[in-house]
Amino acid sequence: MEKKLSQSVRSLDGVGEVRGKLLENKQISTIEDLLYYFPRAYEDRTQEKEIALCEDGETVCIKATVFSPVKEARIRKNMAIYSMEVTDDSGVMKIVWYNNRFMKGRFKSGEVYVFYGVVKRVGRTREMLNPIFETPGKQRQTGRIMPIYPLWANLTQNFLQGLTRKALDAYRITDWIPHSVRKAYHLAEIGYAMEQMHYPHDADAQLIARERFAFEELFLLQLALLEKRGQVKKYQKSAYRDTACVSEWIGMLPFALTGAQRRVIAEIMEDFEKGVPMNRLVQGDVGSGKTAVAAAAMYVAAKNGEQSVIMAPTEILANQHYETFLEFFKDTSFRICLLTGSTKGKKQLYEQIRSGAYDLVVGTHAVIQKAVEFSKLGLVIADEQHRFGVKQRAMLSEKGEHPHFLVMSATPIPRTLALILYGDLDVSIIDELPPGRKPVATYAVGENMRQRLYAFIEKNVKSGTQAYVVCPLIEETEKSDLSNAQTRRDELASRFPDFRVGLVHGRMKAKEKDEIMTAFAKGEMDILVSTTVIEVGVNVPNSNLMIIENAERFGLSQLHQLRGRVGRGTEQAYCILIKHGTQEITEKRMKTMCASNDGFYISEQDLKLRGPGDFFGTRQHGLPELRVANLFEDMEILKRAQNAAGAWYRGELPKKEAEQERVEEKIETMFQKALIDN
Ligand code: ADP
Ligand code: MG
Repeated sequence: MEKKLSQSVRSLDGVGEVRGKLLENKQISTIEDLLYYFPRAYEDRTQEKEIALCEDGETVCIKATVFSPVKEARIRKNMAIYSMEVTDDSGVMKIVWYNNRFMKGRFKSGEVYVFYGVVKRVGRTREMLNPIFETPGKQRQTGRIMPIYPLWANLTQNFLQGLTRKALDAYRITDWIPHSVRKAYHLAEIGYAMEQMHYPHDADAQLIARERFAFEELFLLQLALLEKRGQVKKYQKSAYRDTACVSEWIGMLPFALTGAQRRVIAEIMEDFEKGVPMNRLVQGDVGSGKTAVAAAAMYVAAKNGEQSVIMAPTEILANQHYETFLEFFKDTSFRICLLTGSTKGKKQLYEQIRSGAYDLVVGTHAVIQKAVEFSKLGLVIADEQHRFGVKQRAMLSEKGEHPHFLVMSATPIPRTLALILYGDLDVSIIDELPPGRKPVATYAVGENMRQRLYAFIEKNVKSGTQAYVVCPLIEETEKSDLSNAQTRRDELASRFPDFRVGLVHGRMKAKEKDEIMTAFAKGEMDILVSTTVIEVGVNVPNSNLMIIENAERFGLSQLHQLRGRVGRGTEQAYCILIKHGTQEITEKRMKTMCASNDGFYISEQDLKLRGPGDFFGTRQHGLPELRVANLFEDMEILKRAQNAAGAWYRGELPKKEAEQERVEEKIETMFQKALIDN
């Protein structure tokens, strides 16, 4: 009987209760999960050398004959050295172990072994400490390229290597990528690719395998997006009768909308008129006025008799939105409520929301709790969507009968990529800032400017404005001399005893963070030292100075997000980037930051300068994490995969029913995983 890949990893020898748990913690529950846990690197153990040629510090295999018994030498009470000598005719190598008495009876004189380890050479003597050793011809760990897996908890490389080896030997994998696709796009067959991905025969084979899995990942993603898009489009939703009313509301605003805001609002109105649920992403740089666009949509929904809900990633942001909407809608009869974790009297509020007493609900994750029900939810808005996962999006949507859905993101990415990444969403871009905004004056300086910088902080704070100081680390560590927030806070507090210096970082409880941010927003603090937790959306118009320590450690897009925290008031705002080192890439990044305030331009440069590692590496985009593919370097593969998915989806490639079923199963699992992951 063929063994199923869906079997538990616990069915493998050596996986008991404890390790089973550890694996499952990493989402490795089945044999298939294990096989898709790919190495992060490889160790080439194919190089075999003659002992006489081994240099100090080299990691090599030697094939040598044992010619001395293992000797024991006690050097201290708890320390014994075990050693023996081996030769390969070219020279002699001393093999050494510390405190490993099991080596004593382990070898027979005259027998040949392969040893793999680091060579230490002192004068003419050569030593190898704690080598891996095997019998020639029965090698599993030497004489080949070995996978290096990302480790966690106390699992060892050895254990994972043994485990994947066992799984590869015992299970046969069938390919889920349809034959016609594989053929048309020249993909390696899965069994071969899987073996080569873990235990590559050589570098070329590994590349072929990698390409297959990168393609597989992107192909699946594209299929899933097509599927989702198709599903969404199938739902009906009655079109709003009155969208023209939006101009009434625009007339009530204290400012004139920008051209970009008007265009995006028009795009949303078109969606409202279509008779299918809207699924739209609005991308706009920090300060581009996304909130007003959201408000326009909410106004129209309310005018058409439906409720809206807007969800923000933090309490303080929800509070700010609430205030903003009260102001925006003060000349209307709309009833607005705020629902966050710390809202009092929730039961009563739920009752009112259910009965339709509110047109607009502003809140945090609290709005997706089970207990929250709406009477007629028509529009769901998620702000700063990169903090939301697929699951939360789905949960929100389920609160109504396929409500309109709008996501707002302040992470500008190039349009082509947005279309691919958000394949299930339509994309609107606000690419214009309200008039009169002064760009944040940005300077990159070295450590030698610190004293002058402090004088600048002093001058600013004394004039009544506030400053942020962002550090890459929370606290001092032995491993790193990067600036840390705790030490910096203490330093600033003792240097400026008259100023109120606060601290906020990601390890604090959400409530504590919110309290500190609120205090800062109210002007109860002069300087706020923080980690990147302040990245998202809080509006403190009185802060006009942003200092970023170790700016070389942050990506461009992140620097831009951070910088967006200042320059929201009328004062000229400044951003000072403190940089270390003289790397060319750092210089280029700093130059880009100093030269531009345009988020789209900066994100493009970001992609160019570093590749999208972190840019796309995270779950920021609410999509399943890619394990193999890299959306920047694998642009070619992405295009081919997109092509293939389209062709398959439209039935342009020969398909068998069983193949189609397997593809669907795969998409389904992916969605489920994405839900669990988030
Ligand atoms: P973001 O896109 O970062 O969410 P906001 O919606 O918070 O930006 O807007 C930033 C600030 O700009 C707010 O104070 C808002 O009232 C103001 N604003 C928005 N649109 C305009 C406009 N067209 N003209 C002038 N000010 C505007
Ligand atoms: Mg915003």
